[in-house]
Amino acid sequence: MPPIGAYIHFPYCLKKCGYCDFASFEPPERRIDHKGYADAVLSELSARGVALDGRRLESIFFGGGTPSLWEPAELGRVLEAILARASERADEVEVTIECNPSSLDEARARAFAAVGINRFSVGVQSLDRARLEHLDRLHDAEGAKAAVRAALATRVSGKGPRVSADLMMGVAPSFDAASHETAEDAAREALELAALGVGHLSAYQLTIEPNTRFGELHRQGRLPLVGDDAMAASFLAVSASLEGAGFRHYEISNYARPGEESVHNLGYWRGHDYLGLGCAAYGTLSSRDASRTAVRYRNAPNPEVYLSRARAGDFTPHEREHLEPSTRLTESIMLGLRLREGLDLEGRADALGVEPWPAGRRRAAERLVAAGRLSMTAGRLAIPRDAWLFADGTAARLF
Ligand code: SF4
Repeated sequence: MPPIGAYIHFPYCLKKCGYCDFASFEPPERRIDHKGYADAVLSELSARGVALDGRRLESIFFGGGTPSLWEPAELGRVLEAILARASERADEVEVTIECNPSSLDEARARAFAAVGINRFSVGVQSLDRARLEHLDRLHDAEGAKAAVRAALATRVSGKGPRVSADLMMGVAPSFDAASHETAEDAAREALELAALGVGHLSAYQLTIEPNTRFGELHRQGRLPLVGDDAMAASFLAVSASLEGAGFRHYEISNYARPGEESVHNLGYWRGHDYLGLGCAAYGTLSSRDASRTAVRYRNAPNPEVYLSRARAGDFTPHEREHLEPSTRLTESIMLGLRLREGLDLEGRADALGVEPWPAGRRRAAERLVAAGRLSMTAGRLAIPRDAWLFADGTAARLF
């Protein structure tokens, strides 16, 4: 069986950002039951840990929410238990924590490193005051850079935890076009973070989700947005700048210095399984029979419901989806084509026991190759980097 990852969701944030549709909640009376949440995740691990049997654990990812709010000792208890439960482990299991600058200083970064975190992912989003305020972030540019430096300070002589930073492109704080992020702004901020010493950067486009404050403003025509051309210009400028600075644009939204790629996210894009633990966590697990199907489940998305069910030992998923091999192949096409390395379509189809080349897909692939939107070599498909702006449409034609 291919390797497996583990994802642990921590659902609390100090403040809900206007664009966010993740399962994130301001804790009641600003109080988080750190130990109670760890106990709940540990009980869930006892119930679901069998999924790790016979699998090599490659990565553990604490996401949220804001897991950097979790008391390091409690997070450490969960981490230790997952590592102990694994029947086999990679030589160095990648252990990532997502951090908000407002909850990461040097002492805290060191405390997380001491319990086994070896990768920090810092949610910078922007280095511009107006854009950060518009996004409802609690930090300013200096706070963001201080958090990145705090994470980097855990490294000694170039060794130690790896550090990544997230940026958001296409933010428009007002209808005044002068306030909109330009391609030059986006590239400058990416290079400024690179110069601080991070080995990995993610640069996402702001997307408007329906059940958010931004979604509501958008419906009312009151949300300023940058145009598609400006967004594309930022994407290209960040890519050119970071590639010029020694980063490899290895996934549509991700850049890494050599050896700094996110093992955990590569697992998602390559279609590996992951065990999901915690409130609102998703997990995807292949069946162990010969059916080559998989199950995707989601835990209760409300923290109080998750905690009370956990106390009762009830980990019945809130949602559960059965994935047929053909659906799994479609997902692999969608995710694998986000990677510069692309997807071994024939290998993946063979592993799933489905036909790689139904007539419609082959015709679509040939047309895409002729149009320069796809490359095909020995059963491996990839989207050329200069056609990544059209990646979603390209992948959809191959479903
Ligand atoms: S900090 Fe992150 S998870 Fe929390 S509300 Fe903001 S975007 Fe969502």
